[in-house]
Amino acid sequence: MSRKEALNKLRDVLLLRREALRKALDGDLSMLQSFSQEGGDVMDAAMDTAQDEISSQLVEVESRELSQIEDALNRLRSGHYGDCENCNKAIPLARLQAVPYATLCIECARKQEKYAPRLSTGIGDSSQASNASL
Ligand SMILES: [Zn+2]
Repeated sequence: MSRKEALNKLRDVLLLRREALRKALDGDLSMLQSFSQEGGDVMDAAMDTAQDEISSQLVEVESRELSQIEDALNRLRSGHYGDCENCNKAIPLARLQAVPYATLCIECARKQEKYAPRLSTGIGDSSQASNASL
């Protein structure tokens, strides 16, 4: 299988994953809405709060992954998918198959973690300001 064929398969993976995440996000958001609409007693309220917190964390993780997937699909369209954003080398297929929305080769990803370990979870935030309203 050529790299191009492999990348085409990864696009299908990304599209399916995006669909699944969108559905999950829809479910989580409607759950959050139904929690806030119901009254319930104190015990229920405490349970709801705990579940709200878990749900909002999930929504955060899922919406972050969703924006990474959108980004990967944009790169597929522009023909830059699979290239390392830092060194422009081709990201190995094995890495893309493990992390289809990877933007860095393993070497660059490691370097980035080494120099900015705490930034690794926050890096995407500035680029997804449009999703912050979620
Ligand atoms: Zn690189």
